[in-house]
Amino acid sequence: MIDLHTHTTASDGSCTPGELVALAQSAGVTVLGITDHDTIDGLDAARRAAAAGGSPLEIVPGVEFSAEYSPGTMHLLGYFIDPENGELLGALEEMRHRRNTRNPRIVAALQAAGFDITIEEVVAGAGGDSIGRPHIAAVMVKKGYVASVDEAFAHWLDRGRPAYVSQERIAPAEAIRVIQAAGGVAVLAHPYQLRPQSTSHLEQIVRELRGLGLQGIETWYSRHTPEMTEAYLALAKIHGLVSSGGSDFHGTPKPDIQLGIGCGNLRVPPGTVENLRASSRAAKG
Ligand code: AMP
Ligand code: ZN
Ligand code: FE
Ligand code: FE
Repeated sequence: MIDLHTHTTASDGSCTPGELVALAQSAGVTVLGITDHDTIDGLDAARRAAAAGGSPLEIVPGVEFSAEYSPGTMHLLGYFIDPENGELLGALEEMRHRRNTRNPRIVAALQAAGFDITIEEVVAGAGGDSIGRPHIAAVMVKKGYVASVDEAFAHWLDRGRPAYVSQERIAPAEAIRVIQAAGGVAVLAHPYQLRPQSTSHLEQIVRELRGLGLQGIETWYSRHTPEMTEAYLALAKIHGLVSSGGSDFHGTPKPDIQLGIGCGNLRVPPGTVENLRASSRAAKG
């Protein structure tokens, strides 16, 4: 079983890298991509845990960028990145700096709405250095202000809601450039979240991203319908892109998503990792 899209406590997942590795090994995952938001801090611990024992598990180093896009969200994944690349590390640090500027403003908006919540509580509840709305949502759940993380987003934190604070995001071209500068493969995550108006609209976006160097799209994903998966597979073929896939496992923040199998019927085909690896090698020349 292959899962190339997961989060740890380094960003907004609820499992530490070690816990995620143990879970992957017991679930029968053989290749695990770790794709935390704006940080690669979980990679080392995950690799050490995988090397320490249990069933054989390959860790694919990854990262997830939130790029500038409207009206939906555009997430770009980077695979097989060099975790020591200075340019990548600099870009990730800048992303986290922007988060740390935005988070207190979100908390202030919640305070203004009457919630007793502080940035210190949010930071204390987070396990790593890439902190965002899910951590704020978790504090709201813990304090009984909302029943779930989903409700916190739907009523307060989502775009258009009272505590939403916009954030300057990285341009798609820049995210792709940085991923590739670090020797990585740039993949468009969960394309349906772009909320394309039509198939041809999506195709236009993908064509533009391809022009910027995009190498793959996330065809297999927990929340894709069979129709979406089929459409993305065809799109990837037409544009010469690698099809990738993963669950976007977060643990408790996304309780309906399980490692490896997503909502139950995710299946990332064998060969996916080799295709990505080949793309990374080809780009390195
Ligand atoms: P941020 O990076 O701080 O802007 O927060 C966005 C992240 O929150 C996304 O990448 C998701 O992992 C998570 N997220 C977004 N919407 C929801 C939701 N409705 N329920 C749970 N998590 C969400
Ligand atoms: Zn997340
Ligand atoms: Fe994402
Ligand atoms: Fe993700």
